[in-house]
Amino acid sequence: MADRYLHFTGTSAGRFLTRRLGLPQPAALHRWSAERPRLEGSLLHLTAGRSTHTEELDAVLARTGLTRTTDTAAGAVAAVVLDATGVADAAGLAEVHAALHPVVRSVAASGRIVVLGAPPSTTDHHQASAQQGLEGFVRSLGKEVGKGVTVNLVRLEGGAAAAESTLRFLLSPKSAYVSGQVVTVGDAEPEAVGDRDRPLAGRTALVTGSARGIGAAVAETLARDGARLICLDVPQAAEDLERTAARLGGEALALDITAADAAERIAAAAPDGALDILIHNAGITRDRRLANMPADRWASVIAVNLTSVLDTTDALLKAGTLRHGGRIVATASIAGLAGNNGQTNYAASKAGIVGLVRSLAPRAYAEHGVTVNAVAPGFIETKMTAAVPLFIREAGRRMNSLAQGGLPVDVAETTAWLAHPASAPVNGQTVRVCGQSLLGA
Ligand code: NAD
Repeated sequence: MADRYLHFTGTSAGRFLTRRLGLPQPAALHRWSAERPRLEGSLLHLTAGRSTHTEELDAVLARTGLTRTTDTAAGAVAAVVLDATGVADAAGLAEVHAALHPVVRSVAASGRIVVLGAPPSTTDHHQASAQQGLEGFVRSLGKEVGKGVTVNLVRLEGGAAAAESTLRFLLSPKSAYVSGQVVTVGDAEPEAVGDRDRPLAGRTALVTGSARGIGAAVAETLARDGARLICLDVPQAAEDLERTAARLGGEALALDITAADAAERIAAAAPDGALDILIHNAGITRDRRLANMPADRWASVIAVNLTSVLDTTDALLKAGTLRHGGRIVATASIAGLAGNNGQTNYAASKAGIVGLVRSLAPRAYAEHGVTVNAVAPGFIETKMTAAVPLFIREAGRRMNSLAQGGLPVDVAETTAWLAHPASAPVNGQTVRVCGQSLLGA
């Protein structure tokens, strides 16, 4: 399961050989750790067009802990933030080029480029063309920049302060495998956070499918951020489940999420019958081409990956089990966005998650104060992907801008950002954690 190629290219012989042969050069990514919690270097703040966010954005960037500069000759930089919210027509795109062209080579390995945009207008097609242009720009730069550098676009519907949790995430090692994404940040009021190191303190989170894999990593990361955990998985996985829960000082709930009484049992397991964070991570694959797929393989995937998410979400919102200020994060997949040979059932279930999130998010927030978002993992190194045949597995790993698979912790960090109290303005989004996969880009 280990990525031996990534290890090999990290050696001097491997670097020499792969360069000579023109093979992919995956960079060792800087991920968050208690010892290296921040990007290392300065943050270059640039502007294209006339921004209305300047002062507020200055204050937000100051709180990232990175040393800010506007000096493009400052040498190697860890991150660049380009405020392009004021780019209002095609001619204005020249300023985007002028700002980034001289500095793009100076961005350090595992660095970050974040472009801030405005929502494309529905009444001014010149503004819309320029702002939509930023999307193509960001996605292309992500593919060419190399060295483990990520490039993302954040569209501001409200003020820059609403995007603080998003910018802190994207400008940190926690977003190492998130690239080529467009995130829209609304104008909802972010909740204040007491302890920045434990933003989820006092909150209860339930993670489905958390005996192993991505779910276990999500549970661990939410526990690191201070949440009290309820780990849920099928009774057959009880041993692993107990171990994960015990390690995190949480509760184990052995339950098949497709059970008719799943929501009631979840509510009964929650302290005071209330939850703050609900992570729908449990998922299965039963691959076959449609022509060879019996109805039971179809039905089981839809039942676990989609129907259980719809049913438990509806029931827990209706019963008020999810407290005001709550967060729901469901799990899609790039296969659901791009389509995949042999996965009509899986892709239907995962695209279904995207539809659910988009439709429910505004209502859930208006009626319950709960946000609803999804993560869409790409190729993540887990037991699920270890079972993929060797050549397809190797292709899956390399076919992204970072030329490597992601780790469960990459999905977990993205989930923790969406679950953050200050992320109330992030709602209805599906964020891919895929190293900018070529699939469905
Ligand atoms: P995994 O198979 O390692 O873990 C899934 C967990 O869900 C298991 O512990 C399993 O027992 C549990 N589960 C399955 N059915 C359940 C049910 N009915 N009730 C309760 N628990 C149940 O998978 P993973 O790779 O960690 O994937 C986690 C999620 O991420 C899934 O939704 C998957 O579709 C999605 N995903 C994974 C990848 C990847 O590359 N690994 C890519 C895209 C999406």
